[in-house]
Amino acid sequence: MTIRSKNSDKETTRPSRRQVLGGALTSGAAVALGGSAAAQSNDIQSVDVVVIGAGASGCYAARELSRAGHSVALLEADDRAGGRLRRGEVNGEPVDLGGQWWGPGQTLLDEVSQGLGLTRLKQNITGRSIIDLAGLKFEYEGEVPALPDAEMAAFLEGVETIETWASEIDPQAPWSHPRAKEWDSITCTTWMDQNLGTDFITAFFKFAVKGVCVVDPAQISMLQFLFYCRSGQSFVTLISTDGGAQQEVFKGGLFQVPQLMAEALGDAVHLSTPVRTIAQDGDGVTVTAEGGTWRAKRVIVAVPPAMAQRIHYDPPLPAMRDVYMQRAPMGAVIKCYVAYDTPFWREMGYTGQVFFEGDANVFFEHSLNDSGKFALVAFMDGEAVLRWADRTEQERRDYVVSEIVRVFGQAGANPVDYTDKAWSADQWRRGGYGTQPTPGAWTVTGEAWNRPVDRIHWAGSDTSAVWNGYVEGALQAGKRAAQEVADLL
Ligand SMILES: Cc1cc2nc3c(=O)[nH]c(=O)nc-3n(C[C@H](O)[C@H](O)[C@H](O)COP(=O)(O)OP(=O)(O)OC[C@H]3O[C@@H](n4cnc5c(N)ncnc54)[C@H](O)[C@@H]3O)c2cc1C
Repeated sequence: MTIRSKNSDKETTRPSRRQVLGGALTSGAAVALGGSAAAQSNDIQSVDVVVIGAGASGCYAARELSRAGHSVALLEADDRAGGRLRRGEVNGEPVDLGGQWWGPGQTLLDEVSQGLGLTRLKQNITGRSIIDLAGLKFEYEGEVPALPDAEMAAFLEGVETIETWASEIDPQAPWSHPRAKEWDSITCTTWMDQNLGTDFITAFFKFAVKGVCVVDPAQISMLQFLFYCRSGQSFVTLISTDGGAQQEVFKGGLFQVPQLMAEALGDAVHLSTPVRTIAQDGDGVTVTAEGGTWRAKRVIVAVPPAMAQRIHYDPPLPAMRDVYMQRAPMGAVIKCYVAYDTPFWREMGYTGQVFFEGDANVFFEHSLNDSGKFALVAFMDGEAVLRWADRTEQERRDYVVSEIVRVFGQAGANPVDYTDKAWSADQWRRGGYGTQPTPGAWTVTGEAWNRPVDRIHWAGSDTSAVWNGYVEGALQAGKRAAQEVADLL
């Protein structure tokens, strides 16, 4: 059977289902491991390392190993590389339906993207932003609204507490903090309700958790939030635009990073090849996918735990690893682009940044690649996603536009184009931005989060101690896993 991927002009000869299954059963005995990428038989291809998942992390791990002279097969379920980085188009311009921003401290993404010839544009911060929570509305310039004294005092106290505690967390081992059990047994909602001075500041911090982690703050523990802040440098870094994680966007789109890395890997990349089984024995690993069977010395699983859990492991994974994956769900997000023929919000003196209550509760401006075309990008997150993910794009468009009109008036009523992506409905991701372990998961199963299981190594932004959940974390985890494997080959 010959298949042609939708996004690829590569042709792959696929064995029949019977051959695949037969190959999986006999592969341990039939194939000698070697440094050659050449197929050892029609059924089973032999490489040094199989990497599963062609997101940023898997592409980078495969690139590192390949550059070090090891033979690699990069197996991707989807018909394109990129994973949670994906190209969309609005008003004739490419946009990032997934990850888009870069911020200071994301050094590996800076290095890799520059090496691929990509440049960045600053997120617009000229004008007034709007925050409208718990009955209080502020318009402000810069990063922090001029709050009344009581609110400002509560805000500063909350920030100081979170920054102090976060700075004490070891991001390699969040469960090791002396107060880890206590923080892992209280949700962000409970802690914030009990400890933040005013209704507005309580609503603001819960809103920040939701915006940064895209889960409802009742679904994660304080320990997870503190870890996330520590991993991404600090709470203030994660919520800031200028000097923070939303400072710059990539001209032409961040999705180009994995796309270009995958293109350079050429025939090592196998699209439309979902992995179903990973079998280990004393000599190596047999990876069986829809589309082929590979025998390797080691395998890197560069997919988030919620998806890695859907692969069959033989022998079964240790209990702690399996339970960790059961307790490591994805956040939930829908990203919506609404394009206008003029940036009316700029003309009204606004940045386009709005934080308010509603199902689409965060807006940012998206200047489309210096093209002179403009859009607003809106986010739905947490529970709201479940209300909207399975509805039609037209229904989401009507709702998001009505919310833009609620904020900016009739100037926002007539967009010229719209596109969106509901990540929880996406077959091979089932959510985003990243993994948000449930309360108790870190302290009970955390040790298993990125510890190899014999010949299986774990990558993906969800396994990274630094910039966990971000593209920088994906690259860093790919680098770490590639090094782990290279040391053992
Ligand atoms: C809407 C949204 C906005 C975001 N914004 C930002 C941002 O502004 N800045 C930022 O830094 N980060 C952002 N992120 C997060 C960032 O996109 C991710 O952290 C990063 O892309 C994850 O890369 P990864 O390689 O670890 O995983 P993924 O990109 O998820 O790659 C895993 C790959 O594995 C494949 N796969 C799954 N199961 C199998 C299987 N059984 N067999 C084979 N392949 C399989 C998937 O198809 C996927 O391609 C955002 C994410 C989303 C969804």
